[in-house]
Amino acid sequence: MSKIKVVVAGPRGKMGSEALRMIEKDDSLELVACLDRQNKGKQVYEIDGLPNFDAYIYDDVEECFQTVEADVLVDLTTPKMGYIHTKTAINYGVRPVVGTTGFTKEQLEELTNLAEEKGIGAIIAPNFAVGAVLMMQFSKWAAKYFPDVEIIERHHDQKLDAPSGTSIKTAELIQEVREQKKQGHPDEKETIPGARGADIDGMKIHSVRLPGLIAHQEVVFGSSGQNLTIKHDSFHRESFMSGVKLAIDHVVKIDLLVYGLENLLD
Ligand code: NAP
Repeated sequence: MSKIKVVVAGPRGKMGSEALRMIEKDDSLELVACLDRQNKGKQVYEIDGLPNFDAYIYDDVEECFQTVEADVLVDLTTPKMGYIHTKTAINYGVRPVVGTTGFTKEQLEELTNLAEEKGIGAIIAPNFAVGAVLMMQFSKWAAKYFPDVEIIERHHDQKLDAPSGTSIKTAELIQEVREQKKQGHPDEKETIPGARGADIDGMKIHSVRLPGLIAHQEVVFGSSGQNLTIKHDSFHRESFMSGVKLAIDHVVKIDLLVYGLENLLD
C-alpha cells in the first residue's frame, strides 16, 4: 500500500515537532515537505531538534503545493496562517488536517463551503486528544440534566487565542441540548470587567494562562445539593497525536469538511 504523503506546517512549533516525531514512527506516512517562515530551502534534518527527514522546507504555501505532490496538509500554526494554508490546500486538492485553533465562525463556514464545492476532504479539530473529545461528549450528555454549567480551561501562557477552541466547542455541544438560561443572579454586576468570564448563551467560560500548563479543562455542572465535574488533562503533546493520525487516515477517504474529532469516533 502506498504511503500517505504529508506536508507539516509549523514544524518547529510544540505541536508541529510532535507531529514530525509521530510521522517518523509511522510506516504508513511519508513527510514530503514542511511549511515554515524560517529555514526556506533547507531540509528538515538540518534543523536542530527535528527528526532526520530529507524533506524540503518552503515558506510559500502556493510554491509548496505547486512543487510537491502531497495528499495531506497537517497545519499546526497560528489562526491567521492556518486559515491561509487550509484554504490554499483545498484549492490545490491537498486534504487539510487542522489542529490550529482560533478560526472564526465565518472562516469555518467558508472553508466548509469550499471543501464541498471542490469535493475535497478536510478535518478541523480544536482538540485531537481522544480523552478531551470524550470529556466534551460526556459534558453534552450531562447538560441535559444540569443546565447550570461553567467551563474552566487552563493552557500554557504562549497560547494566542482565548477562550480555547475546545471550550467553545464544548459550549456549542452543550448548547445543542441545554435549555436556554442566563445563569447566576439576575442583578449580578461585575465590579471588575471580565470577572465572570466569557459568555456563550448564558454559560461562562474562564480562561487561565500559566507557564507549566499544557491543555486542561474542567466542565463544572451545578444543581441544588450537588456538583458534577468532568475534567480532562493533556500532560504531554503526544496525547494529541493518535487523533492527528486518525484524522490523516480518515481525511483521504472523505470529500467534505468534518469539524471535530468526535465525528470520526464510533
Ligand atoms: P507554537 O509552538 O507557537 O507553534 C506555532 C508554529 O507556527 C511555530 O513553528 C511558528 O513559527 C509558526 N508560525 C507562527 N507565525 C507564523 C507565520 N506568520 N507564518 C508561518 N508560521 C508561523 O504553538 P503550538 O503550541 O504548537 O500550537 C500550534 C497551534 O495548535 C495553535 O493554534 C494551538 O492552539 C493549536 N493546538 C491544537 C491542539 C489540538 O489538539 N487541535 C492541541 C494543542 C495546540 P515561529 O517560531 O517562527 O513563530
